[in-house]
Amino acid sequence: MNLSDYQHIQNFIDGEFVDPKSNAYLDNTNPATGEVYGKIPNSNLADVENAVQAAQQAFQSWSTSTPEYRFKILNRIAELIDENLDALALAETTDNGKPLWLSKRVDIPRASSNFRFFATSILHFATESHVMEDKAINFTTRQAVGIVACISPWNLPLYLFTWKIAPALAAGNCVLAKPSEVTPLSAFLLAKICQEAGLPKGVLNIIHGDGASCGSAMVAHPSIKAISFTGSTRAGENIAAIAAPKFKKLSLELGGKNPNIIFADCDWDKMMKTTLQSSFANQGQICLCGSRILVEKKIYDKFKTEFVEKVKQLKVGDPLDESSKQGAIVSKMHFQKIVDCIELAKEEGGKIIVGGQAISPAGRCTNGYFISPTIIEGLGPNCKTNMEEIFGPVVTLQSFETEEEAIALANNSTYGLASTIWTQDISKANRTALKMQSGIVWINCWLLRDLRTPFGGIKNSGVGREGGWDALRFFTEAKNICFEL
Ligand code: NAD
Repeated sequence: MNLSDYQHIQNFIDGEFVDPKSNAYLDNTNPATGEVYGKIPNSNLADVENAVQAAQQAFQSWSTSTPEYRFKILNRIAELIDENLDALALAETTDNGKPLWLSKRVDIPRASSNFRFFATSILHFATESHVMEDKAINFTTRQAVGIVACISPWNLPLYLFTWKIAPALAAGNCVLAKPSEVTPLSAFLLAKICQEAGLPKGVLNIIHGDGASCGSAMVAHPSIKAISFTGSTRAGENIAAIAAPKFKKLSLELGGKNPNIIFADCDWDKMMKTTLQSSFANQGQICLCGSRILVEKKIYDKFKTEFVEKVKQLKVGDPLDESSKQGAIVSKMHFQKIVDCIELAKEEGGKIIVGGQAISPAGRCTNGYFISPTIIEGLGPNCKTNMEEIFGPVVTLQSFETEEEAIALANNSTYGLASTIWTQDISKANRTALKMQSGIVWINCWLLRDLRTPFGGIKNSGVGREGGWDALRFFTEAKNICFEL
């Protein structure tokens, strides 16, 4: 894989690399340097139409191919992702600003795991049968939905893109996929990998562009029967408004404002180490990050002192530097949004106890978008800072005295994606977990992922679940056949 490929990104439609019909392009910027280093197509309905036609032509053969055939191709894609780890990781970091070591250790390996996992899953995906004693046998077949759309965000670009594409393809669908316009590179390189792996033409079409021009054309297209979307709650609302009246299947993975509950009887060292990660990993730009830290009052001061000390030691800098713990914020626009959120927190009466400002690292990153890890205290649960998603390296501290108070604070949110609980009291951990209004709860750990488990949120964090059988069920339609004996 050649790094010069990064300059000119093209759509991948019907197995070919093509320019957008309108010849409209967007700038592609490296957030660590602030430099524009390439152009990406801003595709529109005409490109979507071409991709739909290609997908329709491919569907009959792909959807009726054997699971073994699909396994072989998807597994080969996984192998090629592994073989191209360095180039893909560099693409991810160049686009996103995350440390290169993180792209190498987490993002790209997870992308190949997604393909490997769903390649093998489809070999085990079985039909169900329900016997009505001596009256009848029902058997429930599951067939591919048809042409589906996969739309993903910028925070974990290839990781989340493949989390959707792999099950959609494994289940026999033909796919139109759109990565975030902010981080298109790794998706472009994935198209080359799919070509090399022998994925038949038109089965996967990767189209680049923004939400307004390209994403909305995909969502509205009458031939697209299911949409798997990960992104902001606002975009999710727009998509649902268009797709729901057309009765399209929808899987929406949206925003979060996750609580991290720390009881006094926790395993202190493990909690402290993990809380640093759950607060600031990927510059706090993981939907699962715990942005509201709730600490039992009797350990609040001790926690604050040690946490502040450790956060001060997190090195923010050039993502190519192995010693940088934090890289750049993904874009100038998102950088400005986080800076504005910090200002709002101050206006609301919050006290910045560490961080709170933009950073300008020396050398090639002087003009990049960096923000120091920030801790805010002194704000009540109902202020905007504690209610609205910031999606950056910013956490707030609140204290509680009782288990009930911790649960009430944790659930005081319109979101419900993930929660974390720290305690060594097994009963308290389970009692609290059962009362969490979130789709995912971690007890004494964070981001420990088994790809078989249901992944997703409740309330404004989304609709539906990804992962394991849930993903394969979403990308298939059930048909019950009742046979009277
Ligand atoms: P975004 O909603 O701005 O964009 C996400 C994707 O949707 C992009 O590809 C974008 O081009 C496209 N898009 C935007 N508007 C669209 C529309 N009207 N129709 C069709 N497509 C549209 O989100 P973002 O800023 O890229 O990502 C950050 C958000 O994603 C945060 O809110 C974060 O919490 C959320 N997120 C959620 C999860 C989860 O699993 N729940 C995971 C990662 C990120």
